[in-house]
Amino acid sequence: MRKNIVAGNWKMNKTFQEAEELIDRIVVGMEDTSLKCELIICPPALYLEVASDYAEESRLSVGAQNVSEHEKGAYTGEISAPMLDSVDVEYCIVGHSERRKYHGETNAQLAKKTDLLLDYGIRPIFCCGEVLEEREKAIQFNVVKKQITESLFHLSADEFSNLVIAYEPVWAIGTGKTATPEQAQEMHAFIRNLISEKYGKNIADEVSILYGGSCNPGNAKTLFSNPDVDGGLIGGASLKADDFLKIAQSF
Ligand code: PEP
Repeated sequence: MRKNIVAGNWKMNKTFQEAEELIDRIVVGMEDTSLKCELIICPPALYLEVASDYAEESRLSVGAQNVSEHEKGAYTGEISAPMLDSVDVEYCIVGHSERRKYHGETNAQLAKKTDLLLDYGIRPIFCCGEVLEEREKAIQFNVVKKQITESLFHLSADEFSNLVIAYEPVWAIGTGKTATPEQAQEMHAFIRNLISEKYGKNIADEVSILYGGSCNPGNAKTLFSNPDVDGGLIGGASLKADDFLKIAQSF
């Protein structure tokens, strides 16, 4: 059976002291709660090592927000898959819409990042989703299909089974405008069917597909109750321990 997952994308927020305090609150909160999901935090790269130290002593998992498409070398400012592996990072977000928009990341680059992460045993959380204009033109399914096929469908079935997919309609990210449960379920079922056609039903049934976009403690339960929604990738609401934990309790 596939896993329920709630992952927090902190983006470029928190100083070191604030980060440590937030991790501590999440870990303490987890001790008092029986969760029916895996809880992942994706803090800025600078804090991954300390997050991994906490994770070692708790049920928390740690992910990075990005990785270089290169394994090593003269790429100033970049962080590689082996570096993430060396501080025990288990997951890494790939292709977040902010990386696609502000850093021009292409489907081909995201394929390389995915390959490197898998080589180092790190599970990619692959983001896909349409912008508002694409939904208004009713081409959201084609957009998501292209993102997934061009970045991921070169993988073997074994490799693919290590992925987590996050459907994040770009118009819902950080806007307070959430996809309706019907819109989320419709796209998640479409993605699962796409995986099934390529890799078979068993793999498709095993892959967790998360929803992302203004998910909060008030709407998480309704979103997660859909059969193909296996949790969430949470931005703003992951920056407060109480909200993040409430979302994780929505299963
Ligand atoms: C995100 O950035 O992945 C995200 C889902 O953000 P928010 O929850 O703030 O919309």
